[in-house]
Amino acid sequence: MPLTLQTLWTATLMFGGFVAVLFVASALLPGSRQQGAELADGTRLTYKLNGFLIFLLTVAGVAIATWRFGFSLAPVARHFWPLFVVVNLFAFALTGILYLTGRRQAEGLWRGLFFGAKLNPNWLGVDLKMFSYRPSLIGLMVLNVSFAYLQFEVHGQLSQPMLLFQVFFLLYIGNYFQYEYGMLFTWDVIAERFGWMLIWGDYVLVPFFYSIAGWTLLDRTEPLPTPALFALPAMYLLGFWLFRGANEQKHRYKRDPQARIWGRPAQTIGGRLLVSGFWGVGRHLNYTGEILMYLSWTLTTGFEQPWPYILPTWLISLLVHRAWRDDRRCRAKYGELWDAYCKRAKFRMIPFIY
Ligand code: NDP
Repeated sequence: MPLTLQTLWTATLMFGGFVAVLFVASALLPGSRQQGAELADGTRLTYKLNGFLIFLLTVAGVAIATWRFGFSLAPVARHFWPLFVVVNLFAFALTGILYLTGRRQAEGLWRGLFFGAKLNPNWLGVDLKMFSYRPSLIGLMVLNVSFAYLQFEVHGQLSQPMLLFQVFFLLYIGNYFQYEYGMLFTWDVIAERFGWMLIWGDYVLVPFFYSIAGWTLLDRTEPLPTPALFALPAMYLLGFWLFRGANEQKHRYKRDPQARIWGRPAQTIGGRLLVSGFWGVGRHLNYTGEILMYLSWTLTTGFEQPWPYILPTWLISLLVHRAWRDDRRCRAKYGELWDAYCKRAKFRMIPFIY
């Protein structure tokens, strides 16, 4: 759709309605109460985690509305560029509002705008940093699924690559919300203030950049070659197992050092570094797993267009650098224990290579 006042207005209604519904649902729907990481003053915030319920209700709502009332998400895909403009404006406006309301805690104007003023802004009992992962990831899911609706409208069919892509993505996002509490212990939630960097990343970068593969699949109607039909799900499942398995094992161990991993009590080096399960094999198999998942859904797009490969390439560079940086940080923190750990789990992400 071209950028006109009419399409921008429609995009504003779509996006505004979407964020408003998610916000009200986050505030009102029940969810388990979990404590976050310890803050600098020794206290902990309590979060209500109802993202998985909101995710399931969104999926069920769209499915029922489609089945019973012929609802279509194709207009979302058609308004991709108007939505892109509106969401950008929203991200800048939210940055400004959060700066103005928290400027007493900001470290200067530019740092306050870019990195944020407040660590944990909260509106009507909803933590804005945790909330914003919902429009971000549920928004990404809606955008992706809208490409499937559009393909069906334009070509009268849902192609095999499109179906596979949708299943891979739905599982990835559903799984994220199922383990939403894990986000409470990420660097962003623990230590980053909520400013333009996180806001733009959540609302613009993730939905609009991570959906490039879906966009590319719109006109790809031919089926996948038979080997790919088996290889891509296998690659995805292997990635899923490593990614979720490794993250879960570490979370469980950090919460309860007596946790059982792969059926046995957790083993450690010096009582501080887990060497059971995936963590005794490699030091960042969670990164390897996530990259395999990204590659598997990107490969559904074939090789005609280079654009979808920008995302896995970007993720690979990010995680390779992050693994190297994390090694340095852990060596400084754990000293000789880390050296002993590196002798046990010899590689970071790929055996004999990295
Ligand atoms: P990790 O979950 O791997 O956490 C690393 C930290 O875990 C270390 O700094 C150390 O922290 C602790 N640790 C490391 N080894 C051990 C061990 N053997 N035993 C106990 N603790 C250990 O990394 P991230 O937080 O970077 O990533 C979390 C997830 O987010 C990953 O799955 C990653 O793939 C994903 N991610 C996704 C991105 C995306 O854009 N899709 C971007 C970035 C990350 P401590 O000091 O607490 O001990």
